[in-house]
Amino acid sequence: MTIDRRNIEYILPLVRKLTKLGICSDLTFIDISHSNYYDFSNIKDNKLLVLPYPSVHRQFNTMYVEHLNIHMGKSFYDKVLNVSGSNMDCELERDFNNLTIDADGSVRLCLRIRGNNTPNNFKVNEIFMENGHLNKDFLNIISQDKEDYCLGCNWTCSIMAKMISDEMESSDNLIHTKKRGD
Ligand code: SF4
Repeated sequence: MTIDRRNIEYILPLVRKLTKLGICSDLTFIDISHSNYYDFSNIKDNKLLVLPYPSVHRQFNTMYVEHLNIHMGKSFYDKVLNVSGSNMDCELERDFNNLTIDADGSVRLCLRIRGNNTPNNFKVNEIFMENGHLNKDFLNIISQDKEDYCLGCNWTCSIMAKMISDEMESSDNLIHTKKRGD
């Protein structure tokens, strides 16, 4: 379920009920389209964003204290809550770790923004050199698209990829695999 400012107060009681019924909840936060270059959504109302107030942190802490059946581990939600207001800078120009591809094989800037030079210059099979390293031209072009179009976001996949590549967490700790397998 996607959490926004209007439904946040119902999330904890709802997750409790679903847990009792043996249902796992996958919780995400609403994100907005900061400009017309954000093509993943047409929601522009920033009043819908959930800000990381202590009350929101408390709700999530309670879910873990009560061992409610939610999809992701606590360390992941701690990071996600920090950027729930759609103010993340993924720093892909410093640490590229998450590739998004359109259906025609062209590479996007990211899940939120298609970009301009990136999809027009690179198909998925063109971003790696023969030695397996990222093509330097690709990094330059995607960085330029980010500079031109990015106004932040709260894309959780990027956070998760970074946590795994930084070895802060293994994927097993991020996902409640035991609960999902029950
Ligand atoms: S909108 Fe895209 S480029 Fe900007 S921070 Fe989010 S993932 Fe990174």
